Amino acid sequence: MRVHVLETGVAVVRERQLEGAGPARLLRTVLTRTGWTEIPMRAWLIEHPDGLLLIDTGQNARVNDPGYLPRESLYFRRNLRSRIAPEEEIGPRMRALGIDPKDVRCTILTHLHLDHDGGLAHVLGSEIIVAAGEYQRAKGFAGRMRGYLPHRWPEGFQPRQVTLPERPYGPFTHSLELVRGVVLVGTPGHTRDHLSVVLEGEPRLFFAGDAAYSEAALHRGIPDGLATDADAARATMARIREFLAERETIFLPTHDPEAPARLARYGEQHRRFRPRVVQDVQGDAVEPQQSAPAEAPRGPGDAA
Ligand SMILES: [Zn+2]
Repeated sequence: MRVHVLETGVAVVRERQLEGAGPARLLRTVLTRTGWTEIPMRAWLIEHPDGLLLIDTGQNARVNDPGYLPRESLYFRRNLRSRIAPEEEIGPRMRALGIDPKDVRCTILTHLHLDHDGGLAHVLGSEIIVAAGEYQRAKGFAGRMRGYLPHRWPEGFQPRQVTLPERPYGPFTHSLELVRGVVLVGTPGHTRDHLSVVLEGEPRLFFAGDAAYSEAALHRGIPDGLATDADAARATMARIREFLAERETIFLPTHDPEAPARLARYGEQHRRFRPRVVQDVQGDAVEPQQSAPAEAPRGPGDAA
């Protein structure tokens, strides 16, 4: 199975945002005068046997248009710069791979921050999955006050809102198998209803969204400076570390500069996609199906 990285430019943020421990965390992240650092913004595309599966949609190039970001937000005014060209949006990125964005079957949003929902207009024909709680907190005026940009959602954005049932999946308490071998797990902290995506196999892949900004941050266990709940973020990172220790798993956070290199290693291993037996929505056991041998990677940033 091939997995592609879709890079959608870089965000230039304050260093303090990457690790923001201590009292008055959010306020200090907004008021910080620490130096600037660049982090990638990206989405992931899985050529799953059941169809194309997109995880997050990255940023869009209009983010720098005057008036696009709310002026009233101190954070957007002081602490965020974005560099992205129109050809770096997910639509053109997919077409460059020979993939028509209209063929994406399912789009999963880890959460609804602007650098994750910015490319929605390219995949409105897909089934879009978002945690119900995330959608409810992001919409409307209250959502804008929380730093979301619901007024920038494209017309026709009507996601399927899912609530993860309380079903243990390794160390995670809430999970839902969406399609064969693709499991959503609750990873609260960065936002209250943030979710991550596991692609089963050998090794398995863990698409972390912003549950940690990088593998290094995960191991230090320090929440990012914008996390809405620092304690929940720490608990989530502990669970992820436990999950990674269980067996070989490649950790893929949205903003980790090293993530594509780790994904490339996945391609080199030529392993098989072998979903284990998991419970389906009704709680019945689902038989894993025999899968075809993985193909070799065909280009930089791709993995088979
Ligand atoms: Zn975020």
